[in-house]
Amino acid sequence: MRTRTEEKAVILAGEGKVRISTRTEDVTVAEVEGEHGTYRVTLDPEGSWCSCQHGTHRNPHADCSHVLAVRIETVRLAG
Ligand SMILES: [Zn+2]
Repeated sequence: MRTRTEEKAVILAGEGKVRISTRTEDVTVAEVEGEHGTYRVTLDPEGSWCSCQHGTHRNPHADCSHVLAVRIETVRLAG
């Protein structure tokens, strides 16, 4: 079963709210248009980071919906 965070992430990715700005083998930087603003997400080998409140105070083992949305989008782009 999906969590609420995952559901939100799927909707964000599905609605085209994810804009990838940098994508290399190791690092992805993207902007995600969330409910309360646009957030900057970085995925790198050390972890995932998001500028939203949940992202900055996050549980290290739980990505916020913006980070998950970027992960979904990168998987989709990778085909
Ligand atoms: Zn976030």
